[in-house]
Amino acid sequence: MKKKACDHIRAITDVKGPVRRECEECVKSGSRWVHLRTCQTCGVTLCCDNSPNRHATKHAQASDHGVIASAEPGERWLYCYPDDALAGY
Ligand SMILES: [Zn+2]
Ligand SMILES: [Zn+2]
Ligand SMILES: [Zn+2]
Repeated sequence: MKKKACDHIRAITDVKGPVRRECEECVKSGSRWVHLRTCQTCGVTLCCDNSPNRHATKHAQASDHGVIASAEPGERWLYCYPDDALAGY
């Protein structure tokens, strides 16, 4: 993981936060999650790679939405899947 902003991350001026602190997909299926991430393209909040369903990664791969933000309280970072880049904001 590169600790450096890429062009996708730099293009984000308003970071989208979670509307509700829950994984939309896990809620539907009754699953649990560990941490939450918010897609910066469409604003959906989904679960992280430590969660059994890894919905945020699946969403990024299926929809071509490359950048997520942490939706955890107190965490302020963005991650870009195509560039494997992580940056604070
Ligand atoms: Zn990028
Ligand atoms: Zn989930
Ligand atoms: Zn999205």
